[in-house]
Amino acid sequence: MLEEFVEKPVIAYFSMEIGIMSEIPTYSGGLGVLAGDTIRSSADLKIPLVGVTLLTRKGYFRQDIDPEGNQIEMPDEWNPEEYLHRLPHKVKVGIEGREVAVGAWTYVLVSVTGGKVPIIFLDTDLEDNLPEDRAITHYLYGGDEAYRLKQEIVLGIGGVRMLDEIGFEVKKYHMNEGHSSLLTIELLRRFRRDIEEVWDDRLVWDAERVRRLCVFTTHTPVEAGHDKFPYDLVERIYTDTVPVEVIKEYGGSEHLNMTLLGLNLSHYINGVAKKHREVSKEMFPGYEIHAITNGVHSFTWTHPRFRQLYDHWLPGWANEPEIFVRAGKIPKEEIWKAHMDVKRELIDHVNRETGVGMDYDLLTIGFARRATAYKRADLIFTDIERLAKIGEGKLQIIFAGKAHPRDIAGKELIKRIFEIKRLLGGRIKIAYLKNYNMELALKIISGVDVWLNTPLRPYEASGTSGMKAAHNGVLNFSVLDGWWIEGHEEGVTGWAIGGGPDEPSDPEKEADDLYRKLEEIVIPLYYTKRDEWIKMMRNSIRMLAYYFNTHRMMRRYVTEAYIIY
Ligand SMILES: *Cc1c(COP(=O)(O)O)cnc(C)c1O
Repeated sequence: MLEEFVEKPVIAYFSMEIGIMSEIPTYSGGLGVLAGDTIRSSADLKIPLVGVTLLTRKGYFRQDIDPEGNQIEMPDEWNPEEYLHRLPHKVKVGIEGREVAVGAWTYVLVSVTGGKVPIIFLDTDLEDNLPEDRAITHYLYGGDEAYRLKQEIVLGIGGVRMLDEIGFEVKKYHMNEGHSSLLTIELLRRFRRDIEEVWDDRLVWDAERVRRLCVFTTHTPVEAGHDKFPYDLVERIYTDTVPVEVIKEYGGSEHLNMTLLGLNLSHYINGVAKKHREVSKEMFPGYEIHAITNGVHSFTWTHPRFRQLYDHWLPGWANEPEIFVRAGKIPKEEIWKAHMDVKRELIDHVNRETGVGMDYDLLTIGFARRATAYKRADLIFTDIERLAKIGEGKLQIIFAGKAHPRDIAGKELIKRIFEIKRLLGGRIKIAYLKNYNMELALKIISGVDVWLNTPLRPYEASGTSGMKAAHNGVLNFSVLDGWWIEGHEEGVTGWAIGGGPDEPSDPEKEADDLYRKLEEIVIPLYYTKRDEWIKMMRNSIRMLAYYFNTHRMMRRYVTEAYIIY
């Protein structure tokens, strides 16, 4: 099955979540979609890469929301047999003193260019295992700390063993965030020197050789966001071959910090935007940290109607997004016509789903992403009366997003939007769409007029949904954080909200700025200077989509991280 892929050396790309399509719910949000886009671009560019992730049979979760705005979570069961092939290979990892068997499935992603990238899904739901071990790979980000550590043992250690078992010759191991950092420990074991050869016990572990093989991408600009495990838990759960004493040497002495482990055993480390690199350098002083700004897979995140437009005016764009630089050739009327087709499709969908009665011709704002406190979905509702005054009869807003089942504040945010919707009493129409996933993301992101993003700085490492919006000529209106610091040019590619990236965040000032710009700039431009508006749409395609894509991103990973040494 995988013969053609094991003939040549590969880059192994490890990620706890990979978003391939909505029908395979083994992703939760931006990290997984980025992993999927990474793989899609690698296939287009024929980069020899293999993805490694977990076969989460019950997915992340399926979201329902009751009329009061309470989130209801259901397992998102799917049938791997419908999409994947089971492989005959099996490996074992040591967990709680048991030998847990790990099986594998594969999905081969095929590009229109003929490029192919296999993805290996690790699965402990095998008859060989005890019921509790069978459940290890069931839920993405489910369970407690112990459950997470078991998953990370399966992903990191099991993943390396599985690639070996299948016959891959791996030239680089790329860790997409710290969840897979234990792969470094398995590599330490593999390159263990014979005790007779060395004069110092610590030199048994050939860390330098492991480093030369590893690339680490961090995605988390907050201390609390990094996976950490207390060592008493590690000692109980992790019963594989490398002594915990050795793990402590690289993963931190107080607790096992998965980011630190990745940093200490990689030769190339990067953040996902320039600002994120600065924040990471402060968080982890002493490490050389690079920046490769994220992107999105242009073809995937362009609505079919806009693909048609680009095929006509910018042939070759999908595999060479630099061609977007010529977007000035596309007549403005054509862009507007395409946009209105996409917008009508979205508004019809919203009205069908929610019965809220939205209008094709009203300025429509979209806000959809994980519902979690720092993303501040409710910043626009800081002063409801002011918003109503500015926007009545002129504005409608579409929301979507899931809160992690244990994120109480995130769930409160969803409830609050439902409450505000009642308070506004239809003066501004609001819809909250359920079960945000890749399919719904493309619908909303491409069909609104303005893509709003109001994270608390500097918590948005990069953000990618705004890049998707730009691919569809949708204008960004966002706090200067993550990628937007690099993409923003005021009044040209979109608008900023609040102060510069280095000023401390001030929610009141930001809300005020948001209202002021809505009232004085965004709304008047939309209704009275449509020509200027469409010019900005075209600028977004020309100046943002041409750069913020995973083709550019992957070319940089190849030249800066993969082919050194
Ligand atoms: C792109 C995407 C995200 C990431 O959105 P951000 O606004 O960058 O956080 C999350 N979820 C889904 C389903 C996506 O498609």
